[in-house]
Amino acid sequence: MSQHVLTVDVEEWFHGHDLGIDPARWSDLPSRVMTQVARLLELLERYRSRATFFVLGTVAKRHPRVVRAIAEGGHEVASHGYDHWRLVELGRKEVRQQLRASRQILQDLSGQPVWGFRAPSWSVGPDNLWVLDEVVASGYRYDSSLFPVRTPYFGWSGAPVAPATLLTPGGARLLEIPPSVARLGCLRVPFAGGFFLRVCPGWLVEWLARRKLAEGLLVSYIHPWELDSFHPRLPLGWSGRLLRYAGLGTTRWKLERLLALAPARPVREVLGPQLDPSREDLAP
Ligand SMILES: [Zn+2]
Repeated sequence: MSQHVLTVDVEEWFHGHDLGIDPARWSDLPSRVMTQVARLLELLERYRSRATFFVLGTVAKRHPRVVRAIAEGGHEVASHGYDHWRLVELGRKEVRQQLRASRQILQDLSGQPVWGFRAPSWSVGPDNLWVLDEVVASGYRYDSSLFPVRTPYFGWSGAPVAPATLLTPGGARLLEIPPSVARLGCLRVPFAGGFFLRVCPGWLVEWLARRKLAEGLLVSYIHPWELDSFHPRLPLGWSGRLLRYAGLGTTRWKLERLLALAPARPVREVLGPQLDPSREDLAP
């Protein structure tokens, strides 16, 4: 049976590490995440869809209503880390703090056990696979931090292209949920989210999505700021402008096409039976 899992990385338009904005300045910048998420929730309701929202801890702390609205809409709340530091730049103790602090605040606000984790900027790869042991030790049941295509900024071609139970370096088992990529010959081609969804022509996105659905599962991802063409622009270089702003106005209708192909469901609901039932829901 075809299943569409939609995942949403909930962060502000100024949280990306590539933007180089000092976190001390974040509170001076105009927040837009509440409006963006509210609009997305309306859109999902219209398409009878529910999603997994990977929420940053700092967003939860500053805008608790965002987390409550997501949970009240029947969606899954998961963690996107605490303050969007790339985990490759952090030591083990700091990663642990980020994993636990974000999970705690998200559980407290949503009233649901938080099972899923996605690292900021897909920042887990062969150099820091120990993060997966910390994910397990912090009480999460699945991870979605490995991007299965090598790009100049992130990704690892050794990562799985379909949900798989990984053996972590410490010997634990952890379900990994990668975003969908197309396989064209020996190439892995990303198309199902973020920059790739924005720049990929709509007809191609739809064709590749149909192929993934025919295989059984499509895992897509978006950021609320990608649905808001009017968020403030930053004076970035050409590559920064390309990465952040290319195709911004196309995200909404491409997402609507994906939802029209197959209403979305959260990870917990679609892949729940593969999650380890012996684990505790709530961290001590
Ligand atoms: Zn992010």
